Amino acid sequence: MIVIDGSLGEGGGQILRTALALSCVTGKPLSLHNIRKNRKKPGLQPQHLAAVRAAAQVSGAKVGGDRQNSLELLFEPGPVKAGEYGFDIGTAGSTTLLFQTVLPPLCLAEGRSVVTIKGGTHNPLAPPFDFIKEVFLPTLNRFGINAEASIERYGFYPKGGGEVRYCINGAKQIKGGGFSRRGNLLSLTGVSAVANLPLSIAERQKEAIIKRLEKFSPEIAAKSVPSPGTGTYVFLLARYEHALAGFSSLGERGKRAELVGEEAAMDFLVHDATGAALDPYMADQLALYLALSRSKSSFTTSEITGHLLTNLGIAQMFVPFEYEVKGEKGAPGTVEIGNIKG
Ligand code: AMP
Repeated sequence: MIVIDGSLGEGGGQILRTALALSCVTGKPLSLHNIRKNRKKPGLQPQHLAAVRAAAQVSGAKVGGDRQNSLELLFEPGPVKAGEYGFDIGTAGSTTLLFQTVLPPLCLAEGRSVVTIKGGTHNPLAPPFDFIKEVFLPTLNRFGINAEASIERYGFYPKGGGEVRYCINGAKQIKGGGFSRRGNLLSLTGVSAVANLPLSIAERQKEAIIKRLEKFSPEIAAKSVPSPGTGTYVFLLARYEHALAGFSSLGERGKRAELVGEEAAMDFLVHDATGAALDPYMADQLALYLALSRSKSSFTTSEITGHLLTNLGIAQMFVPFEYEVKGEKGAPGTVEIGNIKG
């Protein structure tokens, strides 16, 4: 039984999601306490419960404590089965974070899985769908993970109602590899989108990006996307010779369209100036997969985040591997990961 204090490190939903994913992959039962204790609304909230239930479904797990606001969870997984799954978060909770909970077990299970998820697709503090499709999955592909993403409808807070679909082909194992050098910037492209709001908002978000990033000649498409609710976002994809990076920002009532564009543009500029290969989001999201690989891996990132350190720490409770982080939290750095004890 792996016992985890959910208030460690970041103390957020990520401890829960990483622990659930690794419990399914390794078959090791999990006992979590103090779940999300440092958050404003502690305990399991609807989107976390959805992640618990999804992980339980793919692994036939026995679960205890899966109630709203619960600070404790017991999770005993069985064998993971590839197949067709449909998950409905029921609120605007993030579909991308739920996907990241079930991807590790399903990508290592024998056979093909098709996963449909309903909920939010563009949420604060979560990867937007575009990031999963354009950065996360193509980056994982280098490590032998094969999955594709498509979107039917976009979901924004508070209405949700987005729908996404993922096709995952099971792999026998995750390869190791290096992301030390990123090479030159080949292109900077992106979208500026609105749902059920005037297209002029998307145009203003786009103009703000172009103004701020003029010297990079970004190519941004302004468009309307289908959604049951209203919302706006921008997403920037930086394609370097050897790495991809993604930056985004969401609109909200009372926030100027120009600020939405500028936030993503500034995020890109900070990353670009460091010369590092992986953006801070990709770095923390990749850590779990590299921990599961049996080979040595390394990457440079524009920021060593609490999320990255927490993920490495949680992974080490499930799988034997060693890692070294060179650099200070909040600054650029290098991570080396080697599953040297097998
Ligand atoms: P938590 O805060 O514990 O719920 O975890 C949030 C997760 O979402 C982390 O893996 C972050 O890297 C990821 N994330 C947050 N914002 C973004 C973003 N703008 N783009 C990509 N990933 C993000």
